[in-house]
Amino acid sequence: MNRRMTTKHTQSETGDPLLLTPGPLTTSASVKQAMVHDWGSRDAEFLRINRMVLDKIVELAGGQGTHVTVPVQGSGTFAVEAMITSFVPKSGKLLVLINGAYGQRALKIAQIAGRATASLETPEDTPPDLARLDNMLVDDTAISHVFAVHCETTSGILNPIAEVAEIVARHGRRLLVDSMSAFGAIEIDARKIRYDALAASSNKCLEGVPGLGFVICRNEALAECKGNATTLVLDLFDQAEAFARTGQYRFTPPIHVIVALGRAIEEHEAEGGVVGRGRRYRENAGVLIDGMRAMGFQTLLPDRLQAPIIVTFHMPTDPRFVFQTFYDALKDRGYVIYPGKLTVADSFRIGCIGRLYPQHMVSALLAVREVLDEMRVSNGGPALAAE
Ligand SMILES: *Cc1c(COP(=O)(O)O)cnc(C)c1O
Repeated sequence: MNRRMTTKHTQSETGDPLLLTPGPLTTSASVKQAMVHDWGSRDAEFLRINRMVLDKIVELAGGQGTHVTVPVQGSGTFAVEAMITSFVPKSGKLLVLINGAYGQRALKIAQIAGRATASLETPEDTPPDLARLDNMLVDDTAISHVFAVHCETTSGILNPIAEVAEIVARHGRRLLVDSMSAFGAIEIDARKIRYDALAASSNKCLEGVPGLGFVICRNEALAECKGNATTLVLDLFDQAEAFARTGQYRFTPPIHVIVALGRAIEEHEAEGGVVGRGRRYRENAGVLIDGMRAMGFQTLLPDRLQAPIIVTFHMPTDPRFVFQTFYDALKDRGYVIYPGKLTVADSFRIGCIGRLYPQHMVSALLAVREVLDEMRVSNGGPALAAE
């Protein structure tokens, strides 16, 4: 490898570039090490780890005794699709709150599955309009379920999930949450926030490797889901029933992913659980945002809307700034950033999650400074192009 090292940077524990992305992300060496074995799908040790993983996830959600974790082989979207198609009956109607690509994707999932839908869309830098939500639930009595994204990774915005849950419950409707990029780092406690189901995955704030989605289901709501699913593999009711009966997956489980997730959850606990993990990510985000602003970069979001997961920056306007060059030069130095996905502004993103510590953010900022100097860009902001 010809990695250019003009300054001394801190790379990941295995020497790979650091992934400053929303996932897959940088994992610890010990999480990767956990995978260097083979297990059969009926292996008692594997089944023990799997049970531990599913139980710990319920605990992290504050759902002991009331909720169950139903795993879904595949990426996070498989879990979202399983959640929507298993919980919204064929006669139901799903209202999707949209302020980014993941809300749009949920709408598409429901439409493909032939469910009736409605949507409430706000711009990517704007939380859902709660007054409109309230009105829509009064006006459209056909709406049975509401879908909301916790942290919309498109922009990095933290949506007001507690307020949404309160409104949905007040109108006697059911809530489905995509907490993919927040679960494990931003508290969402099932004892305080009422939902029927919440989807997340192995490879975001829990810092496992990709390959397992899961849906935390309220037991009473899951019990009503028999026959709703429109696919065999994504039927959460059937998957849960098979688990209850046999303790096993219906189809080949991603064993290595689950064992690595078991290790990752132990490390999550050792770090202080959701509180400890969230604290480190907030420190990462703070260092990143302060350092980027000091170089003139501007964040899309005001601090009060910013989740400590991924930060969107406006593209600098200096004509000497070329994003592909910036991206490649950072990659050469061991930092992988993420392109923007916004429709409202030209932008790029830098993630704060994964096995990253504030000192990694400090060294990533040094790399950004070097690359700007190389491009002869003095300021990362809009409108202040250097001459
Ligand atoms: C990552 C993510 C997903 C799932 O994406 P996959 O690529 O399928 O893992 C869903 N919703 C949100 C908000 C996400 O950040």
